[in-house]
Amino acid sequence: MKKIFIIYTGGTIGMVEDETGTFIPFDFELIKKNLPDLSRTDYELTVHSFDPIIDSSNMTSEIWLTMVKLIQDNYAEFDGFVILHGSDTMAFTASVLSFLLEGLRKPVILSGSQLPISQIRTDARENMMTALEIASAKHNGESIIQEVCILFDNKLFRGNRSFKYNSAKFEAFRSPNYPVLVEAGIHLKYNLEALLNNTGQTLQYHHALDNRVGVLKLFPGITKESIQAVLNSDVRSIVMETFGSGNTTTAEWFLALLKEAIVQGKNIVNISQCKVGSVELGRYETSQGLKAIGVLNGYDMTFEAAVTKLMYLQGEFEDQKNVAHWVERDIRGELTIND
Ligand code: ASP
Repeated sequence: MKKIFIIYTGGTIGMVEDETGTFIPFDFELIKKNLPDLSRTDYELTVHSFDPIIDSSNMTSEIWLTMVKLIQDNYAEFDGFVILHGSDTMAFTASVLSFLLEGLRKPVILSGSQLPISQIRTDARENMMTALEIASAKHNGESIIQEVCILFDNKLFRGNRSFKYNSAKFEAFRSPNYPVLVEAGIHLKYNLEALLNNTGQTLQYHHALDNRVGVLKLFPGITKESIQAVLNSDVRSIVMETFGSGNTTTAEWFLALLKEAIVQGKNIVNISQCKVGSVELGRYETSQGLKAIGVLNGYDMTFEAAVTKLMYLQGEFEDQKNVAHWVERDIRGELTIND
C-alpha cells in the first residue's frame, strides 16, 4: 500500500452551495463520497481535516506553521503528502512551505479545484487522483518528487515558481519562469532535469515566520505620500514591484525616499510587475540608481515567493543583513540568478 497523508484545509474542492447559491466549505466526507474510485486503488489515506475548514482567502501564517508541524509529525510514516487547498492563495502556501521545509525528500503536493467535487463537470477528481499518484511515485525506493508543488489541470508546477493567473479556467496556474515538472497525459511525463534532488540533505523544519513585510507597487504618478506610507510602516522589508526588467522613475525625490528607508535598516527587494522575465539591475539607466543605493535584486521571483521568503528569512534572522544576503540567493529553486 502507498501511504499518503492528506491535509484538508478547505477550498472549492469540498464546497457546497448554500440556499443563496454561495459556495461554503464542507467536510472531507463529501470528497470521499464523490471519489468511489478510491476503493479500487492501493492508497492508504490518512486525512487530517482542519477545523474549521476554510476558503483559502482566510489563510494565515499560523495555519502555515501548523501544516509544517503536521508534516513533521507524520513525515517518517508516509510516502507523500497531499494538501487540499483553495486555489486563491495556494501559491503563497506552496511558496512558504518550500522555505519552511528545507531539504525535503518526499513530495508535498498542493491541489484543489475550480469546481466543487460534487459537480458533474468538476476538475476535482482528475486533480486529486493525479496528485495522489505523483505523491506516491518512487524510483529505486526514493520519491521522484522531493519538493513542494502545485498540481492543477494535468500539470505539476514548482510551488515557489507558481501563481494563480486564471480564476475562470481549469488551467488556473502557471509558472512561466520555470518549466512544468510533470505533464499528465496518457502517461505521467516527468521533466527529470527540472526536479529538485535533495538526496544527501538532512531535512530541517523551520517554525518561525515574521510577517512584517510591506509591498510597494509602483505606477506612473504614484504620490510621495503613498510611497512614504509603505516605507514608514512597521515593516522590516518591502517587496517593490517595478516596471519591466526592474525599472523605476529616476526622480531624485523617489530615490531619496528609498535611500532613507534603506539607511534606517529596511530591506527593499526589487521584483518585476511582469510575470515573465527577470529583474536586471543596471540594464537601463532607470535601474542603475536603485543598485547604487542598495536596493536588493529579487531576480525572477514571483510576488508570492518574494513575500513568503522574506517572512521566512525574517523569522530565521534578527539581523537585517542576513535577510538581505539570503533574499538575493537561490535557496529552494525559487529564483534564477542571471548576472
Ligand atoms: N475561493 C476558493 C478558495 O481559494 C477558490 C478555490 O478553491 O479555488 O478557497
